[in-house]
Amino acid sequence: MNNPAAQKDISYSPSWVDINIGQLYRNLNALKQKTSGNVQFVAVVKANAYGHGAITISKALEGHVDKLAVAHINEAIELRNASIKTPIIVLAPPEISFADLYKAYNLEAVISELNQFEYLPPDTSYHLQFDTGMKRLGIQPEEAKDAVNKVDTHSELNLTGVMSHFATADEPDSTKVEEQNERFKEILAHFKNSDISIHIANSGALAFYPETHQTMVRLGISLYGYAPESTPIDDIVPILTWKSRVVQCRPIKKDESVSYGATWTAPSDGYILTIPVGYADGIPRILSNNMEVWVGDIQLPQVGNVTMDYIMVFSKEMEFQNGTPITLLSPTGPSASDWANKAGTISYEILTNIGSRVERRYH
Ligand SMILES: *Cc1c(COP(=O)(O)O)cnc(C)c1O
Repeated sequence: MNNPAAQKDISYSPSWVDINIGQLYRNLNALKQKTSGNVQFVAVVKANAYGHGAITISKALEGHVDKLAVAHINEAIELRNASIKTPIIVLAPPEISFADLYKAYNLEAVISELNQFEYLPPDTSYHLQFDTGMKRLGIQPEEAKDAVNKVDTHSELNLTGVMSHFATADEPDSTKVEEQNERFKEILAHFKNSDISIHIANSGALAFYPETHQTMVRLGISLYGYAPESTPIDDIVPILTWKSRVVQCRPIKKDESVSYGATWTAPSDGYILTIPVGYADGIPRILSNNMEVWVGDIQLPQVGNVTMDYIMVFSKEMEFQNGTPITLLSPTGPSASDWANKAGTISYEILTNIGSRVERRYH
């Protein structure tokens, strides 16, 4: 934000993402409307807030969400070192070698195996994670009684929540979600009379399975404005626009080829625009010859193989000045979901692949 180049709207960055913090709040409010009033909100800001910049997004969300969550403890420490005070859940299992850091940095651990009780130091806060069917992390449902015993015998630790994670909540009408939810409820029956947080819902569950909201929801992708899969979530809009500039515009003649491998040849005379973003910045190489960029309201096809640092674009009629702004991704399209569909992936992967050379600007 204190970037003088950005303030002058000139940039030494080859490309940048404009991140709309107002829209982040509008998404959060739209998502809050989908829960009953007293459900707590955890903003998932792992993987650099899905590529949007963990520190700035977390600061923006302070006071607006109840907790933050990251995957790994180094991500949490980065936020604490940036003076972020909101409670932070570290979703990954605690390891012996850094067990003391939870208390030191005031972080909430997630116990996913019973032996982890043995090495967390006194006064560490923790959630208990059960594996209800995702088969990634968590205590087995059959161990629920043993887990309750551990909770009781380890009264030097602070039980803060009981949680699980859905494998298929990204689309409506999944019987697996119902099964996992049932298994979770059976586990919860062992944890009566306490005021701990109960949480299993991610973005998909928030949108499509209101019966799973419990006392707290953990939201990632929907905050940033995307539905987890192809079923849209009402009233949420992508907060990110990815832009760059033309660095060269040269005439090309019919039948001349472009880029590595010479996979594209000009169907007519025209112009080739070179744009300084490539697969190292997060443009999937598989989109070569299968994506567009926008120059104002003119749509132009990307042509030839995506290279590490550049893409090329074909303009049949018009020549463009160096420095002309171009748009790669925007809320009005194409969006990260559009790229994901063509690239055989999901918006999450497109967003988290936006590289470190791409400047994050906030508005
Ligand atoms: C990443 C993650 C989430 C957030 O999922 P979204 O689909 O982005 O809402 C929630 N819970 C856990 C355990 C996660 O790993």
